[in-house]
Amino acid sequence: KTSGRARYEVYAGELDQAVQQRRALEHELRHALNASEGLELVYQPIFEARSGALLGCEALVRWNHPTKGRMPPDAFISLAEERGLINQLGLWVLRRAAEYVRASEVPWVAVNVSPVQFQNQDFAASVLNVLDEVGLSPRRLELEITEGLLLQNSEHVQQTLRHLRASGIRVALDDFGTGYSSISYLRTYGVDKLKIDKSFVSQLGRDDEIDGIVKSIIDLARAMRMKVTAEGVETQEQRVMLENLGCGELQGYLLSRPLTPERLIGLCIPQALG
Ligand code: C2E
Ligand code: CA
Ligand code: CA
Ligand code: CA
Repeated sequence: KTSGRARYEVYAGELDQAVQQRRALEHELRHALNASEGLELVYQPIFEARSGALLGCEALVRWNHPTKGRMPPDAFISLAEERGLINQLGLWVLRRAAEYVRASEVPWVAVNVSPVQFQNQDFAASVLNVLDEVGLSPRRLELEITEGLLLQNSEHVQQTLRHLRASGIRVALDDFGTGYSSISYLRTYGVDKLKIDKSFVSQLGRDDEIDGIVKSIIDLARAMRMKVTAEGVETQEQRVMLENLGCGELQGYLLSRPLTPERLIGLCIPQALG
């Protein structure tokens, strides 16, 4: 009995520590957001498969933590979602990305939207408000949402998507193939682009079944007049296969890693001159 109790206390102590660490991290993230300090965006270019031309870019958030160093988004997005910071973080990212493309030659920027942020009643209005304040045309913004949102079959989601798209913003379905969206959801909601998840792309050429799935996603996109991007393209073999299957847009380490804003501008110069 006593040993059982001792074990429980050790366990509770560890739990306590984890809770405290998370609370400290929350506090630091709140500070970073309020002071606009330590957060930054990198931009991964997206290219046209056929011509290799730069089409646009995806903004990806980074946090330079005061002691832990550079933290990947997977380490703090869910914290922001749980602790009520995701709206502020999401709008910070949107504003920063919008200011960046507005002042650059990059045609458009894609911004990731957390489903928690999307649930907010005035999500569409707050996005349009930021574009208005920054002076960026809605046609130069793409929002990346995930399949889970469409599953909820909610009036809010449907209205928000309609409102955003009617204003000229494009909507892409991120990580496509990993969720449960069906053709009927795609038809009901209407999106402009499918992004084939990198877990499929990485298996291309190694697994006939995966090859078939990727081909059918590309065919589905064409049939429904959506664009299609393959993410996580890492090898020449994947690139050639995707091109042959008719995938319009490519993104991945083979073409370019996410870049600092300065380096992405550097990429645009030959295009601007030519
Ligand atoms: P995601 O939206 O699927 O973004 C693609 C992720 O794949 C990025 O990781 C990118 O750096 C990485 N990647 C790009 N090309 C390749 C490749 O060829 N191979 C491999 N293995 N990986 C590649 P990152 O930047 O760590 O972002 C992770 C996730 O965090 C993102 O996945 C997205 O869901 C989320 N995220 C990033 N920025 C934001 C943001 O501003 N807001 C929200 N809500 N989520 C964000
Ligand atoms: Ca994304
Ligand atoms: Ca993705
Ligand atoms: Ca992903």
